[in-house]
Amino acid sequence: MQQTNRLGTLTREELAEIDIKHYLHPTTPPKAHYLSGPSTIFSEGKGIYLKDVEGQERIDGVSMLWNVNLGYGNEELAEAAKHQMVKLAYSSSFSGQSNEPAILLAQKVASLAPGDLNVCFFTSGGSESNDTAFKLARFYWKIKGKPERTKIISLEQSFHGVTVGATSATGIEGFQNFTTSNAPNFLKAIAHALNAERGDKSDPNYARSIRGVIEAEGADTIAAVIVEPIQGAGGVRFPPEGYLQAVRKLCDEHGILMIADEVICGFGRTGKMFGVDNWDVVPDLLCVAKGISSGYAHLGAVIMREHIREAFILSDEMMFHGFTYSGHPMACAVGLKTLEILERDNIVENSRLRGEELLKGLKYLESNHKHVTQVRGLGLLAGIELLKDPETGVPFDPSEHAAAKYTDLCMDLGLQLRYFDWKGTNTVALAPPLIITKTQVEDIINRMSDALKAFEKQI
Ligand code: PMP
Repeated sequence: MQQTNRLGTLTREELAEIDIKHYLHPTTPPKAHYLSGPSTIFSEGKGIYLKDVEGQERIDGVSMLWNVNLGYGNEELAEAAKHQMVKLAYSSSFSGQSNEPAILLAQKVASLAPGDLNVCFFTSGGSESNDTAFKLARFYWKIKGKPERTKIISLEQSFHGVTVGATSATGIEGFQNFTTSNAPNFLKAIAHALNAERGDKSDPNYARSIRGVIEAEGADTIAAVIVEPIQGAGGVRFPPEGYLQAVRKLCDEHGILMIADEVICGFGRTGKMFGVDNWDVVPDLLCVAKGISSGYAHLGAVIMREHIREAFILSDEMMFHGFTYSGHPMACAVGLKTLEILERDNIVENSRLRGEELLKGLKYLESNHKHVTQVRGLGLLAGIELLKDPETGVPFDPSEHAAAKYTDLCMDLGLQLRYFDWKGTNTVALAPPLIITKTQVEDIINRMSDALKAFEKQI
């Protein structure tokens, strides 16, 4: 049936009815959604604030999916998109064709990335970036005459995306077990076993560490190790100090490529331009998405070191890899403007400073509220744990759904946060837009505090 475009004309009820009928939602339980419909239907946003179709306002305390780093309603980004769409909406980068925004964005990204991470391959998002990195690592070994180096090691509790390769690398069990079969040659190691990675064989986790897995499998079968500098969806899990350096050293020892998944950390989230900059580590391949365009366009990239690209240009092999939207002119123009704003407005420094205030506020909550513990944060990426009794370490029973209840209470007070309750944890994640002000950070802490008071009464 022919229908006119009814954008902006329907009530919430009408939209919800259509949503239930025709829209299968990502990372949502289908049955619960079918029974109760969409939880929120957003309609607009400005700065760190969001509005739903009924006019309810809330603070976005997680930049939606850790991506809207410059906040909502940014006219400069909208202008950049419009200008490019009118000028040249699309052009391909296949067969050596190119376009101005992609060229200039590649140069800009190279200037910001550490070490000699100087060459970009563009994608449309994080999963595509990670899949591309896996394929580039294997391609690298193939043309280096070591085609048997195929295996990719990733960490338990990691999240690398949902395409087949990225899912196979992801350590969170729910994603791994969604379908019946994942890709071969993806191995898991226990996360953050610092001593084992440094070679301490007496570490009880040695066999499950990256080092243990490399030894068991044979280094000459391993193409790459992939790590998030800070695990995001796994529960905002920070590595112990020295961990990333130890992984870098381990990879160097065995000639294995190191991939950093900076889909969350990249472009200022941790108070430095890249997550690895906090530990002065330069991976061989660095994957980004989200913050590169602040969520205004579907854009990602794999940034590679000179020696990777050198291998490619010394061979006669064709790059049989490329997405229709690799180097999309509009997306790249938005990326370019995002990075211009990031530098011009000192956004990364704001992330660092506001992050310190946020961490202080969360520690205040820890000392003043019964159930808050394990406060951690770097820049504007932070997490807390809810425990029944932090003194004795007694967790909430999973049936209590503590983190879900608490984030619902925050939502009632106009604050959107996210929770992760893998393996009996009750993690609450914070990642507000990097443009947030000191007063707005205080507002978040106050709302969290009020929600904790309500939580203490309810639980
Ligand atoms: N890597 C990490 C660390 C992520 O957090 C995500 C998304 N949350 C991805 C990869 C996948 O990115 P995308 O959803 O853009 O494919």
